[in-house]
Amino acid sequence: MKVVLLTNVATLEVREREVPRIDDHSILLQVKAVGVCGSDLRIYRHRDPRVQFPRVMGHEISGVVAEVGKCVEGFEPGDRVALGAHIPCGTCWYCWEGQGQHCVKGWTIGYQFDGGFSEYTVLNRKTLQNGSICKFNEDVSFEQASLSEPFSCVLNGLKRLSVRPGETVAVFGAGAIGAMFISALRRFGAGKIIALQRSESRRKLAVKMGAHIAIDPAAGNAAEQILALTDGYGCDVCIVTAPSVEVQQQALMAARKQGRILFFAGLPGTSVKELDTNQIVYKELSVFGVHGASRQDHQDAMKWISQQWIDFSAFITHRYTLDDTEEAFLTTEKKSGLKSVIVFE
Ligand SMILES: [Zn+2]
Ligand SMILES: [Zn+2]
Repeated sequence: MKVVLLTNVATLEVREREVPRIDDHSILLQVKAVGVCGSDLRIYRHRDPRVQFPRVMGHEISGVVAEVGKCVEGFEPGDRVALGAHIPCGTCWYCWEGQGQHCVKGWTIGYQFDGGFSEYTVLNRKTLQNGSICKFNEDVSFEQASLSEPFSCVLNGLKRLSVRPGETVAVFGAGAIGAMFISALRRFGAGKIIALQRSESRRKLAVKMGAHIAIDPAAGNAAEQILALTDGYGCDVCIVTAPSVEVQQQALMAARKQGRILFFAGLPGTSVKELDTNQIVYKELSVFGVHGASRQDHQDAMKWISQQWIDFSAFITHRYTLDDTEEAFLTTEKKSGLKSVIVFE
């Protein structure tokens, strides 16, 4: 089988490997679609302490069950499934609480275990026991099913924010994740959605996805632009999908008093970043972070996709073969379009 290995920083190599043999407690999955995530790109450029070379990355996976271990129940060859990214241990406090994304072991597909940039991948015993494996029927395409992982993280964030109908929400950064927030917020009944995005093509896409207005944060002070659009009050909710402390600071400035703020994207590197925390104190802001998604979030995401509560086809703007995985990474890096997905015959 063909695999794409991360063999060093900024080095992806297409190689031949034996199809893995599974034990009695595992499943062999034939990968049908795998999305390129911003975090894959971050590892490709900057490494990650959890990722040893060589590694097959890729955690936004859908595929067909090819082989089922003797002791596995509930799956048959031919089942169409989509995966959550985390492999929870099942025994720590977070796992008991149903928060497998915070499991103390921190195992993630494509990090400590080989992932989806590969013709086949193994779903091991822990994944089957504690991970999220959602079956879906033939009405759902594999490429859309691969969006269930990133969209589960979006839903996790939206649940934390409890957006109410009529509220004004600013979304900083309208890439694939920002676009998913915008579409879902529209469905949630947000009254005014303001997208902030530098690239003009992505601003147009943001409006297509449901933003009421898309502004260029570089065309003047971003927070002031938002205050001007909200009668000087600021937004009820600010969502930051751009990995930048400057943008996080803009969100603190653009939120109304007692507003809620969500930081979605982690910052690259480890240096301490400064935020004006007096904004939080004197405006009584609530600031949330979001990282990954629970099994429940992933099941919910799959439901949104199978019900087509928003137009998921609009998020996938680039398709590549496995041979062209590196090109898909570079497209993601150039911020052209929204989501790049590797699709298999
Ligand atoms: Zn991802
Ligand atoms: Zn755990």
